[in-house]
Amino acid sequence: MTARIDISAVTRRYGATLALAGVDLTVEAGAYCVLLGPSGCGKSTLLNILGGFADPTSGAVRIGGRDMVGVPAAARPTTTVFQDYALFPHMTLLDNVGFGLRMRGMARRARQSRAAEMLALVGLDGAGARRPADLSGGQRQRVALARALAVEPDVLLLDEPLGALDLNLRRVMQDELKRIQRSVGATFVHVTHDQEEAMAIADRLVVMNAGRIEDQGPPERVYRAPASRFAAGFLGEMSFLPARVQAGRAVTALGVLGGPQTHPEGTRMIACIRPEHLRIGPGPALGPIDVLDTVFMGAHRKVRLRARAAPDVDLTALLPADTAPGPDLAIDAGAVTLLPDNGDTT
Ligand code: ADP
Ligand code: MG
Repeated sequence: MTARIDISAVTRRYGATLALAGVDLTVEAGAYCVLLGPSGCGKSTLLNILGGFADPTSGAVRIGGRDMVGVPAAARPTTTVFQDYALFPHMTLLDNVGFGLRMRGMARRARQSRAAEMLALVGLDGAGARRPADLSGGQRQRVALARALAVEPDVLLLDEPLGALDLNLRRVMQDELKRIQRSVGATFVHVTHDQEEAMAIADRLVVMNAGRIEDQGPPERVYRAPASRFAAGFLGEMSFLPARVQAGRAVTALGVLGGPQTHPEGTRMIACIRPEHLRIGPGPALGPIDVLDTVFMGAHRKVRLRARAAPDVDLTALLPADTAPGPDLAIDAGAVTLLPDNGDTT
């Protein structure tokens, strides 16, 4: 029904390319895990290793405690939903959804009843006699999902499943996927490069870059207190301001930011400032600023600005629409994340 995933020290080489450079990841049974990262960072490679479509060069993969090395895709407790739905055009939806069950030798009547149940689960109740050509892209993706779930996998793998859909439909399907995952209880691992999609559906978010995991955890934690500069910059908007440890505090051109610091005196750090950290209120004031650009966004006004005290860093503020930015604009110093400056500028 559901299973935990344990990935340890997994690497994968393709010739000179190191697609995965030592990945450790545990996904609890029944979690909705999203692998997020830019194109080429190794997301699909990791998913294919889980699904049995690629082997790790080294490292171990366990699903439900069982070693998956050498277990072919069809014998794994996983099914995969790809972006191109790959439905059989000449078959009805019932036969498409029941295909995996037929391969497993389930009798026709039981198969059709299970397929009908799965179609209802994905919002296509009563559509079993139709064929893929009669459907919209979003509906086809629902059929592909129903087909993958019909065999009751412990783990469902989804590789950019909503990538071919337009934005509105994608948002609808995100909610649907989350609902369906809760209702079937299987572990879902979903690959995307869309950070909004990741935040909307993950209860476990994994940020990847260049074959490595940069950060992982609940999306709120990763957003509020990212573990690396890459994770900080990839998820949402962020400005980076140099800081230096003085007397146990991170001192920047805009004052002391973040909490107490245990790094040695003089350590270089980076203060990660989100748009919502700038506000009219308590905290170190920015002082004189230059407004570069403002965009009215309905509830908010997005203002790009520079503080004269830190002229090298563009800041973005998300202010109530009726607020004009001025020198009294302050930083919510306690909310700012400080990271060691390891020279990484990605
Ligand atoms: P993502 O899904 O995050 O876009 P991939 O896992 O597809 O990334 O690819 C990671 C890296 O591995 C890329 O550099 C890609 O070119 C390389 N790669 C993936 N699959 C193959 C393959 N079958 N042969 C050679 N190189 C590959
Ligand atoms: Mg991919």
